[in-house]
Amino acid sequence: MDLGISGKRALVCAASKGLGKGCAWALAEAGVDLVINARGSDVLKETAREISDRFGVKVNYVAADITSPTGRAAVLEVASDIDILVTNAGGPPPGVWSDWSRDDFIAALDANMLSPIALMQALMPAMITKGWGRVVNITSQSVKAPISQLGLSNAARAGLTGFVAGTSRQVAPHGVNINNLLPGIHATDRADMLDQAIVVQRGITLDEARAQRAATIPARRYGAAADFGAACAFLCSQQAAFIVGQNIVLDGGAANITI
Ligand code: NAP
Repeated sequence: MDLGISGKRALVCAASKGLGKGCAWALAEAGVDLVINARGSDVLKETAREISDRFGVKVNYVAADITSPTGRAAVLEVASDIDILVTNAGGPPPGVWSDWSRDDFIAALDANMLSPIALMQALMPAMITKGWGRVVNITSQSVKAPISQLGLSNAARAGLTGFVAGTSRQVAPHGVNINNLLPGIHATDRADMLDQAIVVQRGITLDEARAQRAATIPARRYGAAADFGAACAFLCSQQAAFIVGQNIVLDGGAANITI
């Protein structure tokens, strides 16, 4: 399907690996020029080269921490005039409710709530002026089906979801659509880290931990970054013009949610 966005320009945050890279890949496949970001420059540079070689689109990259004001400023210097914004950052660590300090909560809020909000506030005015824009926030299935050990993530992402619920309705009249994509378990480094926590907790092997988690998913497998990227690119398409303020779960059916 022609998504009708060839020649547009996107910023994809936290995109050297995993779900962010999946989104960057699918947007490039649709002909979108990119600015991609991550903290580490080596993998980021290699990802930029891989994507531009494969699809022939322009790919700029900025190595910076997207959760810090200085990091965001560096990214925004290169990506000031974009049509598509995909927000993303690493997820907070798992733990127990009683362990988390105020600083832990502030770090989670900075990464998974306030950074995406700051990026939207910086980049949506130009989209509004142009009368066209797309924003996709990578959040988590835990927004609809909270995960006990991910209290920091549950809390921060709920805050972002509330902001998007109102803001998406305020910018939609200007042709700017904001939606959230909620990943369930996908085979990325983040999933490896959570699998390792289960290895320690249950005293089982890594393969056993993966098999146990895959068995909880009706699709009986972890999602792939390509599955996720395809959904992201569709939400950025012309065809998705009537999808506004939604929270779309991509989890192979794991969470039995009816609304
Ligand atoms: P991942 O495989 O660990 O990849 C994370 C990417 O983000 C890397 O490119 C990393 O590069 C970059 N990154 C991390 N922190 C950053 C920061 N502060 N500034 C800029 N770039 C940063 O993770 P993922 O699985 O793709 O997860 C992406 C998001 O989805 C996370 O918030 C995660 O919690 C959420 N999620 C994932 C799953 C899953 O099963 N995979 C499920 C639910 C929710 P550098 O390390 O070089 O910065």
